[in-house]
Amino acid sequence: ANKFKGKKTAAGFDLFLKDAKEGQVVTRFPPEPSGYLHVGHAKAAILNQYFARQYKGRLIIRFDDTNPSKEKTEFEESIIEDLALLGIKGDVTTHTSDYFDTLYQYAVQLIQEGKAYADDTLQEEMRAQRMDGIASRRRDATVEENLTRFAEMSTGSQEGRRWCLRAKMSVDDPNKALRDPVIYRCNADVSHHRTGDKWKVYPTYDFACPVVDSIEGVTHALRTNEYRDRNPQYQWMLDALKLRKVEIWDFGRLNFVYTLLSKRKLQWFVDNGHVSGWDDPRFPTVRGIRRRGMTIETIQEFILAQGPSQQIINMEWDNIWTINKRLIDPVVPRYVALDKHGLVKCTVAGAPGLEERPMPRHKKNPELGEKTTVFDNVIYIEQEDAKSFADNEEVTMMDWGNVFVRSKKVGADGLIESMDMDANLGGDFKKTKKKVTWLAQSATRPFVEVSLLDFDYLITKKKLEEDDKFEDFITPQSEFRTEAVAAFNVSELAEGAQIQFERKGYYVLDKVQGKDGKREFIKIPDGRQASSA
Ligand code: ATP
Ligand code: MG
Ligand code: MG
Repeated sequence: ANKFKGKKTAAGFDLFLKDAKEGQVVTRFPPEPSGYLHVGHAKAAILNQYFARQYKGRLIIRFDDTNPSKEKTEFEESIIEDLALLGIKGDVTTHTSDYFDTLYQYAVQLIQEGKAYADDTLQEEMRAQRMDGIASRRRDATVEENLTRFAEMSTGSQEGRRWCLRAKMSVDDPNKALRDPVIYRCNADVSHHRTGDKWKVYPTYDFACPVVDSIEGVTHALRTNEYRDRNPQYQWMLDALKLRKVEIWDFGRLNFVYTLLSKRKLQWFVDNGHVSGWDDPRFPTVRGIRRRGMTIETIQEFILAQGPSQQIINMEWDNIWTINKRLIDPVVPRYVALDKHGLVKCTVAGAPGLEERPMPRHKKNPELGEKTTVFDNVIYIEQEDAKSFADNEEVTMMDWGNVFVRSKKVGADGLIESMDMDANLGGDFKKTKKKVTWLAQSATRPFVEVSLLDFDYLITKKKLEEDDKFEDFITPQSEFRTEAVAAFNVSELAEGAQIQFERKGYYVLDKVQGKDGKREFIKIPDGRQASSA
């Protein structure tokens, strides 16, 4: 009996593994150390960890390092950091390269059993033959010929480089993935970041993945269903080598609208200066979305809610940011910031003078404690609010009280410079239409200069088609900076702090010492903006 069968996720899916026994499940997340993780990888990593934990089993983090031309030690380190940002820690970390000797032996075994052959058909011709179901002229070479050629490949000689090793599965199976896939290639010019110059031949993913899954004890291999055609090929390798079977559990690839999820394309944005780096808040990298204020809980809830869905999902960012907002709203403290442009000075007759008072950081969450707020009979409000006031209108200054708007002074530029008001602090705030944020300062608690950053999508097209060139769809301006002043009490915040600026939205303090020495806040999307990710 599988006690997790029938257990539903938030979205109503069954999330269980076939033939899974508690304490015996082993899953693995196999990133290639060739770049930073993005939200698509996060889906695979989170599902693997979820199942390992649910069944009290083990999670292997395996660096799939079979292509030395693309891989580096630095990326292993950054991937471990990215996983930590997702709340993921494997029980063990391994490398496909740990098994290069074993894999080589298995390849030799396949040759000896007549199940693999060396081929020097040119790449394009091979592709055409596989398409048309035509056998390679090398397919019926003898075991001795194949062993000699594979040995030659292994030396990395000019002759060896002309060859590859193919599994002898089928010439014309309707499933083209079974048409004698390549299982070893020569790569003699670059050294491998772990094995150095020892190897001149490397196994392909198609060969290494099933073999290493099996010998590492993986019970359930999760992979995206774009590989589904290759599932029979995966099983063929295990059958051919008489290795222990592995259950494959496949799931739909995750994509997002207005978003590129390919290391190569993201690299282009970095190289061409369209973003500040791999942790740019506009990037769908784990670093980017975490920096923009997405929590680990949000990502996990979002991924698990999709369950075993097989659709290739093209998600709206609003869906995930809405979850994030629900989770952070009850726990992030409140502060006030005002647009600096056209700040309006208001003198409130009849109000008490300068004083400081402790105020709750969050009215509905006393656990967040108190902050010090300055009150005075001279306050500042935003131009936009000031413009909206009618003569003699009664308005509410939030957390203080009501005032009557009496007169205003307009400057040469047409902006309101100052206003005179009369205090009616005990007045009924239920009667006023406008609840306005305001700020006061003192000599010891002056305003703090802040920059508020918001972002748009990097590309202008919702879904890029196969033959679209992404370079043609770059959003001309995708970063927006507003200069603002905030209450002195924001100086208590540390980098990474998440808050709400009242009436503006949620922000994360990205840099205490940003551009021009100002505190830089990044807007955390709340799922309600159509334009911004
Ligand atoms: P890229 O194409 O960006 O280089 P990749 O798929 O080649 O990505 P890997 O490091 O090989 O990168 O991927 C590690 C794991 O993450 C694989 O199991 C892969 O299936 C999974 N994965 C990658 N992209 C997605 C995605 N968009 N949705 C779900 N899983 C994904
Ligand atoms: Mg890959
Ligand atoms: Mg890929």
